[in-house]
Amino acid sequence: MLSNIKCTKCGINKPVYKRIYSGEQLCSSCFTLSILKKVKRTISRFKMLEHGDKVAIAVSGGKDSLTLLTILDKLCRKHASQLYAISVDEGIEGYRDEALKYVNQMSNKLNIPNFTISYRELYGFTLDEALRWRKNLNITACALCGVLRRRALDIAAERVKASVIATAHNLDDYIQTFIINLLSGDLERLGWLDPYNEPQSNFTIRRVKPLIELYEQEIALYAYLKDIPFQEMRCPYRDEGIRSKIRNFLNDLEKEHAGIKYIIFKSALNISHQFRVLHKKNSIKRCINCGYPSSSQICSVCQMLELIKRNR
Ligand SMILES: [Zn+2]
Ligand SMILES: [Zn+2]
Repeated sequence: MLSNIKCTKCGINKPVYKRIYSGEQLCSSCFTLSILKKVKRTISRFKMLEHGDKVAIAVSGGKDSLTLLTILDKLCRKHASQLYAISVDEGIEGYRDEALKYVNQMSNKLNIPNFTISYRELYGFTLDEALRWRKNLNITACALCGVLRRRALDIAAERVKASVIATAHNLDDYIQTFIINLLSGDLERLGWLDPYNEPQSNFTIRRVKPLIELYEQEIALYAYLKDIPFQEMRCPYRDEGIRSKIRNFLNDLEKEHAGIKYIIFKSALNISHQFRVLHKKNSIKRCINCGYPSSSQICSVCQMLELIKRNR
């Protein structure tokens, strides 16, 4: 029986994937084409890229970011956009060094210039070291690393003179972050999740998330079907914090209610947009210490570095 089923789109090939929330059953080429079309639609829907943009793609070496690199390579070449791969070496022994090999391999293959920046160079320590020192601090590895990595990406993008940073956050990441912010009670942060692009302010670099409407599972399948080599090992610090509990909870829900993650995503988009409009008047300031954009007098990076220094 199963062998007689044909792809919903082309009606010719055998399906390799059932998109449960839409009911479509897609063959390999219709599936990969649908992913490209979706990303293209996301980019134009949220006005993510402009003609002639210099796009710094944040690439970690995992499946999401290497998929983003290959998809933007396909989509952006036509728009005269210049692409760069930027990577952050946090200093996680036996993990990031391995991942960066995949980044080099793919950027060389696609002929995209590749630039790596390290915590050691920027902050004078590796993540491994900072985490050894933090014994007395009540902070998760991801919270510490996230703040420092964001700044590292900004600096890497500045160094290649990019006009925009593209990150590989997917739909799953987006709704997890939305729920984490909701649970933290900091509602202004919900507004920061709004992906609609606004004209660039003169001292913040634009950030875009072209994979934001894709399920993580579909990105994994795309990478598999397109034979994209990536690092499969998870970050050794990944399971700290509330994110993994929320990820499991959402995946369990999706198993019983196909499409519920997409419904949460749509609600989250709507709410984050409302909050952004609401908090628009709180204009961005500059950190009095480092001069980077900040919502408070001292930015979160300077606060974090001070905290780490004190516990060293
Ligand atoms: Zn097909
Ligand atoms: Zn600062």
